[in-house]
Amino acid sequence: MAYVGSQPIYILSEGSRRTSGRDAQSMNIVAGRAVAEAVRTTLGPKGMDKMLVDTMGNVVITNDGVTILDEMDVDHPAAQMIVEVAQTQEDETGDGTTTAVILAGELLARAEDLLENDVHPTVVANGYRFAAAEARDVLESLATEVEGEDALREIAITAMTGKGAESSRDLLADLVVEAVSTVESEDGIDLDDVVVEPIVGGSVADSHLVRGVVMDKERAHENMPKRVTDAKVLLFDAPIEVRETDIDASLDITSPAQLEGFLAREEAEIREMVDTIVDSGATVVVCQKAIDDLAVHYLSKAGVLAVKRAKKSDVRALARATGATITSEFEDLESALGDAGLVEQREMGDETRIFVEDCPDAKAVTLVLRGGTEHVVSEVERAVEDALGVVRVTALDGRVLAGGGAPEIELARQLRDFADSVSGREQLAVEAFAGALEIVPRTLAENAGLDPIDSLVDLRARHEAGDANVGLDVYTGATADMMAQHVVEPVRVKLQAIESATEAVELLLRIDDVVAAGDLKKGGEFDEMDF
Ligand code: ADP
Ligand code: MG
Repeated sequence: MAYVGSQPIYILSEGSRRTSGRDAQSMNIVAGRAVAEAVRTTLGPKGMDKMLVDTMGNVVITNDGVTILDEMDVDHPAAQMIVEVAQTQEDETGDGTTTAVILAGELLARAEDLLENDVHPTVVANGYRFAAAEARDVLESLATEVEGEDALREIAITAMTGKGAESSRDLLADLVVEAVSTVESEDGIDLDDVVVEPIVGGSVADSHLVRGVVMDKERAHENMPKRVTDAKVLLFDAPIEVRETDIDASLDITSPAQLEGFLAREEAEIREMVDTIVDSGATVVVCQKAIDDLAVHYLSKAGVLAVKRAKKSDVRALARATGATITSEFEDLESALGDAGLVEQREMGDETRIFVEDCPDAKAVTLVLRGGTEHVVSEVERAVEDALGVVRVTALDGRVLAGGGAPEIELARQLRDFADSVSGREQLAVEAFAGALEIVPRTLAENAGLDPIDSLVDLRARHEAGDANVGLDVYTGATADMMAQHVVEPVRVKLQAIESATEAVELLLRIDDVVAAGDLKKGGEFDEMDF
């Protein structure tokens, strides 16, 4: 509202609310920190899980930062920005989501202290930016080059620690490393080529890697073979049925003989299609569209295993795995066929799947994950997704850091030195940034039931003495060289966490005016988060 003399002039529509200056900043900071608080207790191997129940009563039990935040359905715009930090982290690296979010939360908390002491928000934002740039350099200098599958396995294990996959961690790490190495090519590593297929039943130890594809399908007819070895696979993405005429021609059938003739022609046409398929040498047909009943009949008589209405993504993966070309014409089928050592329909628990496996030159693989219950399998799946992400990144970059809070302590130490070289009040912000990084080891300690102050003091002392890789052994409570403990993470995960946390916080700090439309959502969604 503005005034001309004593006359108010309304510049915003009725019902809209405006918060500005310090109030706006505090409000945003509180909202952002609330998000970080929500995931804090899940960090690290000893982190707790959360049980989330949605409006439909579906239950998710997880330890995964980005999953928790997605399920929480956060509404506040500032809080939403912190949720996006987790999403960016997930998209870019596949791991480190909790770290990124709690770092953002702590940067906000420390910014609030500075603002309280009349440091201008722009100064804080600038100082944070200087510090983040310096942090990047320090992390690069701390990185160790690694190569080979053992290093990748360690990376996978660290990412899965504390994620409900504990008992079969070694097996899962092997599977993840093998999956990533199989799909690796000169063009890089496309994780779309690694399909994760959770199947409830059995135990996690029954999980395995299939060099090929697993379809959630059954064969088109029970007279078809359940098992085909040395299969020639045809991938078809058009219906296998009599072609509809383009124009709606009406058919005048005036005698039974005419009808018979018509049906006989249709039958002959289908017969011909099936003959073409069988003559090509195909023993397995996967069709993305429908297959006419009569065609199914002829195919099963010919001993072909056919699948109809297969998922598009499965057909694509099959092409990558078997080397088949997806076709929609009944021409030149022979050259379009792919190879699979074994195609088999299997019953697993209550579920039926068709396995297309032992593909000699598979460019796509399937990680079959088993577990006693839906919740177990889902949490294992999330752990494996994280592991796939870090293994991919490490296979590409070949650069790792110690985990367990070691890099954060080292960064904090070096940034405090760096702060001395920064002039003006930005120096305070750089120091705040250094302190904020220590939220990671502090939280690891808290979540392990250790005294966070003691742990930090110990860690700082070891780092002062020059042990840059010393972090917190959350199982013993002692400080330890994390490289020697095989607790390692890709450099890219930390770089990304710092970058996205800093960017989001900077953006939030530069806001000093929030104008919310009144009737956008009834009642104003802001009221739902209590602050
Ligand atoms: P995020 O979503 O950030 O990946 P996690 O719950 O996976 O969160 O925890 C990651 C943190 O746990 C990292 O700082 C990592 O170094 C640490 N960590 C993992 N395994 C160990 C371990 N065995 N000992 C100490 N710290 C570990
Ligand atoms: Mg993790």
